[in-house]
Amino acid sequence: MLKETIKNFVGRLFAAPRRGPERVTKEKHGIDRRNVSRHAIKVCEVLHHEGYSAYIVGGAVRDLIVGLEPKDFDVATNATPNQIRPLFRRARIIGKRFQLVHVVFGQEIIETSTFRAPASVEQDTDEHGRILRDNLFGTHEEDAARRDFTLNALYYDPITEEVIDYHRGLPDLKKRVVRMIGDPETRYREDPVRMLRALRFAAKLSATIDPASREPLVRMAHLIENVPSSRLFDEILKLLTCGHAMDCLRQLQAVGLHQSVLPSMDLTFKQEGGEEFVELALARTDARVRAGKTISPSFLFAALLWKLVNKRWQEICAEGEHPAQALMQAADSVVAEQTRKLAIQRRFQADMREIWFMQARFERANAKTIWRLIEQPRFRAAVDFLQLRAEAHEVDSVQAQWWMDLANADDSSRAEMIEAHEAEQRGKPPAARRRRSPRRRPAAQASRP
Ligand code: ATP
Ligand code: MG
Repeated sequence: MLKETIKNFVGRLFAAPRRGPERVTKEKHGIDRRNVSRHAIKVCEVLHHEGYSAYIVGGAVRDLIVGLEPKDFDVATNATPNQIRPLFRRARIIGKRFQLVHVVFGQEIIETSTFRAPASVEQDTDEHGRILRDNLFGTHEEDAARRDFTLNALYYDPITEEVIDYHRGLPDLKKRVVRMIGDPETRYREDPVRMLRALRFAAKLSATIDPASREPLVRMAHLIENVPSSRLFDEILKLLTCGHAMDCLRQLQAVGLHQSVLPSMDLTFKQEGGEEFVELALARTDARVRAGKTISPSFLFAALLWKLVNKRWQEICAEGEHPAQALMQAADSVVAEQTRKLAIQRRFQADMREIWFMQARFERANAKTIWRLIEQPRFRAAVDFLQLRAEAHEVDSVQAQWWMDLANADDSSRAEMIEAHEAEQRGKPPAARRRRSPRRRPAAQASRP
């Protein structure tokens, strides 16, 4: 405890700026105000007008400086939630642990939070030093000190167009260095999710992690297991959907964090074509992210775990089990292994299973079952998955394309496609038909039925 207290104190000493913040002009930081959300500017203007200070902060400033498009815009201010809310027509106070205000402009929400005080020894922590409750408002300087990395602690004032930099975050950002504010070990202990964030920003910005911030990662990786499961799932999803998913996985693996969140990864990568399959799936995800499309968590996890499911499936089939039963058992065992470390929400698990089970059904479908398959809510995702498998040379690409065309067709074209296919089947010599027996081995060619 005493050691922690001293560490906290030293951490805060380091975190304290030595000579006040740097005020960086737009010529040096390079943010073009036209790329800044006009709603975020509006929030700052209104608060300024009322005599408060207000800045755009965090990921948006970081991304604007390096020329990426920000996901969203957050504002930090010295006004309290109760002072902020009445200033806007559509604003609501949210959050229990730390209240903040959502200011709503049509589709866009500007998350507006009051400067927060950094971690202090008086705060509630668990036995590992993880902060359980922090609800203290603070000064601008304190708000900067409680942020995670120097490059995330930059404040943009849209009125003067200056960036306020308390922790030399701008030079770090320009050099692409992810550096923890304060004592890294203490800060990871306070919130182990910061370990995942460090890796994500390194991947996303093609940055390195400063040695002092990197060194504790291997040693402290296991602390991630104390993070509540839903938060962990959200963070892993952020990692996988940041546009650099494979890079993130490699970063996780390099420090051993994957063992605590994606325990199947080592084994998957050892399977023949396992790494390539994951790479292909994640490259598709990255492409969708860049195109601004939505990402389905079920599809992602279905892909991450598929090679193991497939392996188990074949093993169980080889023991003489019926393929459909075998696939169900394989899915159960792989999902159980995964959820011991990282719980996947039940609805996603159900969707993953559907995507997998349909892979087997594609192989055996006839006219009647094709129509039933089409009606499945996950049909489209399963067909996408089949395409992914075709790309990985696991199934025939012509057949995968037939299913994709079917998914894209309207009902009357579907009827024609299925009829033409049935006719083709009927015209085939009996030997060819026999080859499509329902008890074929799994993961062979998905047949165009
Ligand atoms: P992105 O939105 O691109 O994922 P971000 O940096 O904006 O990245 P958010 O989770 O939106 O991430 O958080 C906004 C800001 O809040 C961060 O930039 C950082 O300053 C601060 N922050 C977020 N999470 C933490 C944390 N766990 N510890 C300390 N500060 C944090
Ligand atoms: Mg953000």
